[in-house]
Amino acid sequence: MQSQAPIAIVGAGPAGLTLARLLEVAEIPYIVFERDVSATWANEHQSSGTLDLHPTTGQAALVEAGLFPRFQSLARFGVPLTIVDSQGKVHVSYSREGDTEEPEIDRKDLRGLLLSSVPASRILWDHKIQRIERVDNGSVTTHFENQPSRSGFRLVVGADGAWSKIRATVMPSEPQYSGIHFFSSYIKPENPIYPLAALKAGRGNYLAFGTERQIFLYCLGDGSYHVSVGLRLSEKTVPEASILASASALWNTVLQEYFAGWDCDLTDFVRSCDGKFRSWPLYTMAEDAIPSWNHVSGVTLVGDAVHLTVPTGDGVNNAMHDSVDLAKHIISHGINDLESATLAYEEAMRPRAVKTIQKGHWMTHHMFLAAGAEEMLAAMGADGGEA
Ligand SMILES: Cc1cc2nc3c(=O)[nH]c(=O)nc-3n(C[C@H](O)[C@H](O)[C@H](O)COP(=O)(O)OP(=O)(O)OC[C@H]3O[C@@H](n4cnc5c(N)ncnc54)[C@H](O)[C@@H]3O)c2cc1C
Repeated sequence: MQSQAPIAIVGAGPAGLTLARLLEVAEIPYIVFERDVSATWANEHQSSGTLDLHPTTGQAALVEAGLFPRFQSLARFGVPLTIVDSQGKVHVSYSREGDTEEPEIDRKDLRGLLLSSVPASRILWDHKIQRIERVDNGSVTTHFENQPSRSGFRLVVGADGAWSKIRATVMPSEPQYSGIHFFSSYIKPENPIYPLAALKAGRGNYLAFGTERQIFLYCLGDGSYHVSVGLRLSEKTVPEASILASASALWNTVLQEYFAGWDCDLTDFVRSCDGKFRSWPLYTMAEDAIPSWNHVSGVTLVGDAVHLTVPTGDGVNNAMHDSVDLAKHIISHGINDLESATLAYEEAMRPRAVKTIQKGHWMTHHMFLAAGAEEMLAAMGADGGEA
């Protein structure tokens, strides 16, 4: 099938949709291919948490996209933060009242905001890319697992996250397992443990750190809590769907032995979660991945597809920043000089990507694999006590 738009964006995550919105505003034609079968599939089938958007990256991207006022109406400002140890002892408690620096937004709301800002006809759902092929005339063909191929793209942007199918065209590196595995689910307001969660976390984030393991509660926009459990686990330990389907099954078969001796309130939060758990083994790119990136005409990458790390609080911000930069270069060079646009973008992005990956490795050791709250706070240079 011959394509109409010159630019294909693979992936409707924060990076892909930010780029789509910026091209839309600039009236540059594009098409987005997304593997999810519909706009609501992820909301219905996957637990997803909250993201804090930073002023110079994530928020700046929304300003650039003309979406900041709508973001402000969805975002939560001054979200309190409590950090405790495995016994529930409070080490840090920030009220953050009046803090406007790093507002939080539910991941699903950010996606909804970006999706609503581009015409529905620009997003092709249920299009799972298998590979791309560069053809002799300099154009690129996209091949899907479940749809007819499309040809004639002048630029394909890989915004397809951790397991990008576009990445292999420009770099040989594959993500490496970080040693950390997260499981996440929810506590809804009707859950009997909800009042205890509300007492501990309030309208904020409540983070418990033990040795190489964590239990996090994040208050979402609808008042429910997103619960994340992190621990060092072998790469091969991927529980079956039947185990992830219930909190008690996951607790009894995988988690219990790792959280022996923890404060019961903390472990009860995990054992009482509603619904099924999402399994997130955390992967990261190696530090030498970016220097091995060869510029390839007609193909580039944004977001996790290029600088995947463990969660550092920067991931979504960096992803949106990449797309702002790429869009600016495409707009300034024009649709007939996409080669110069991608070269300029990649040159500016490479050093940022290296720093991002380095920070992720630092966080792996000083936060996720630290020997508890005190060691983690000392490494972060964070002071304890009330604020
Ligand atoms: C447990 C966890 C917690 C996190 N917490 C935070 C946080 O608090 N703050 C923060 O800033 N970041 C956080 N991150 C990181 C953040 O989620 C990512 O950095 C960010 O989502 C990257 O955006 P992206 O658009 O590059 O990729 P993604 O968000 O991964 O989006 C990729 C899109 O591409 C689609 N796709 C994938 N493969 C294909 C294919 N073959 N064909 C078509 N479409 C495809 C996917 O369905 C998806 O829609 C966290 C990550 C994890 C794992």
